[in-house]
Amino acid sequence: MSTSNEFAQPHRSDPSGVVLITGAGRGIGAATALLAGRRGYRVCVNYRSDEAAAASVVDAVRAEGGVALAVRADVTRTAEVARLFATVDAELGPLTGLVNNAGTLERQSRLEDIDEERLNRIWAANITGPFLCAAQAVRRMSTRHGGQGGAIVNVSSAASRLGSPNEYVDYAAAKGAVDSMTRGLALEVADEGIRVNAVRPGLIHTGIHALGGEPGRVDRVAPNLPMKRGGQPEEVAEAILFLLSPASSYTTGAFLDIAGGR
Ligand code: NAP
Repeated sequence: MSTSNEFAQPHRSDPSGVVLITGAGRGIGAATALLAGRRGYRVCVNYRSDEAAAASVVDAVRAEGGVALAVRADVTRTAEVARLFATVDAELGPLTGLVNNAGTLERQSRLEDIDEERLNRIWAANITGPFLCAAQAVRRMSTRHGGQGGAIVNVSSAASRLGSPNEYVDYAAAKGAVDSMTRGLALEVADEGIRVNAVRPGLIHTGIHALGGEPGRVDRVAPNLPMKRGGQPEEVAEAILFLLSPASSYTTGAFLDIAGGR
């Protein structure tokens, strides 16, 4: 039988902690911000370009009585990431959670048609961004640095195991790097109070598919999916909130596939 002591550490953490969600102006990030606000977290809604979208997410959180703040930063830039985290420190208090959600893809294409500039953009947004943000989060949350612990959730993709042939092998490979980082960092900070996990969404109804040149991609593929439908951002948000919360206190280095069986 367990003693209450065994579980003391995770449950002592502030249930209404501070969570920073990158790229939270729309899609999965926006749904996660709304749910986090509803669950009592103080929420930082990071955005890169669409200030109005981020402001409407903040308004929606506040309309339900939550606390939220929009902060502009391109997560691929070290100085902007540093400013983003410093703003959270000053405005919302000690960070307890990071959701590395910002990510991007480009036009569907075969690998031989992908050039160096595109590769650098894809690596920067999908790999460098999560690394820079995770570093800032660890410096704040690790007990090694005097922090109280916390949780990091990386938004990877089913693409990391499917490879995305004829669409975007570069994006899939970048998500493979996110998976490796999830494992490596989880082990690096496992005894420093920080859990690191990833969700791997399948085909979710968001604007990202338009970036690939096929806004209707989810509906086209849906009949071939096990559940015969794409997913909703809110269904991914539920999994992210589970991995952020003390409900997953013994889960680290894990991957949760939110892909309807795909
Ligand atoms: P989305 O609607 O296109 O949202 C992506 C968000 O990321 C946008 O708000 C975008 O902001 C932001 N972003 C991109 N680069 C950024 C940067 N350098 N700095 C800060 N923010 C940046 O896409 P989504 O579908 O919600 O995607 C969220 C995450 O889920 C991504 O990591 C994506 O790879 C992953 N995912 C999505 C699916 C799916 O089917 N939708 C499946 C698997 C995984 P801007 O508007 O300023 O560019």
